[in-house]
Amino acid sequence: MSKQTRRNFIKTAAVAGSVIAGLPQKAKAAPKNILSDDRMGVLVDTTVCVGCRKCEWACKTAHNMPTPPLETYDNRDVMKKMRRPDHTSLTVVNEYEFDDYPKFPIDVKVQCMHCDHPACVSACIVGAFSKEENGSVIWDTNKCIGCRYCMVACPFQIPAFEYHKAIQPEIKKCDFCFGRTSKGKLPACVEICPMEALTYGRRKDLIDIARRKIELYPDRYINHIYGETEVGGTAWLYLASRKFEDLQFPKLGNSPAPGVTEAIQHGIFAYFLPPIALYALLGGVMWINKNRKKSEEGEE
Ligand code: SF4
Ligand code: SF4
Ligand code: SF4
Repeated sequence: MSKQTRRNFIKTAAVAGSVIAGLPQKAKAAPKNILSDDRMGVLVDTTVCVGCRKCEWACKTAHNMPTPPLETYDNRDVMKKMRRPDHTSLTVVNEYEFDDYPKFPIDVKVQCMHCDHPACVSACIVGAFSKEENGSVIWDTNKCIGCRYCMVACPFQIPAFEYHKAIQPEIKKCDFCFGRTSKGKLPACVEICPMEALTYGRRKDLIDIARRKIELYPDRYINHIYGETEVGGTAWLYLASRKFEDLQFPKLGNSPAPGVTEAIQHGIFAYFLPPIALYALLGGVMWINKNRKKSEEGEE
């Protein structure tokens, strides 16, 4: 597939704007958002992960991204500071130490959560993002106009942008190994994990497995499956021995994040405001989401 040059990008944005602004409401870029009962997910058991970071290497290799050799990932110095996924790593593993158990740090793999109601899909004004039947949230580089609303909308701050590239910059994030899973293969990170800390399967089966684990080992796990209900549910689910806030998981409410984004975004696009105004309005969306989160927390 051909990639967009900067000139094409601007042209596409302008054409998209003029065409879509003139269309009736229903004909606007419709994002694909399939919520299949059989959608897949990954259960991450953070009590099992040893922080070997082989998943980071496997992810880069599977996506043809530059990576040092696998052996170099044994060096744990990189874990001294917290990292976020970015355009060079679609997944990262962070380590958390606690004074009461200094010898047993907790390692947490982070990547796109593949939300059931993805804010990135709702925010994308040209329908480049989509939620697929198998649960993956992916995007079409050829449709993407580089507006980066997906970055602003994501409650987990996941999509990254290739700011360093003057020509053909792209959005980067975990694609749930869509290319591999569509051919019946496991996601690369799941396949390589030597501890089986990552379990790939139907989301609803994973929730049953997670519940059984919590029931069988109440001393090992807190009674919370992160992602089961947060922002309306995510494909990636986590088990942990500590409160998720202690592991820097965002404390989010259970309502899907896209509602407000979608309503305002579609309103904005009807009038095709220039990007700077859009950013101001998206700032407003973030403010609304933040306040809604606060009020949900207050209700708990
Ligand atoms: S490969 Fe498995 S054990 Fe190693 S860091 Fe990744 S999730 Fe943890
Ligand atoms: S975590 Fe962010 S980027 Fe991933 S699906 Fe959810 S909203 Fe989209
Ligand atoms: S599912 Fe694929 S793209 Fe996502 S973190 Fe794992 S290896 Fe990377």
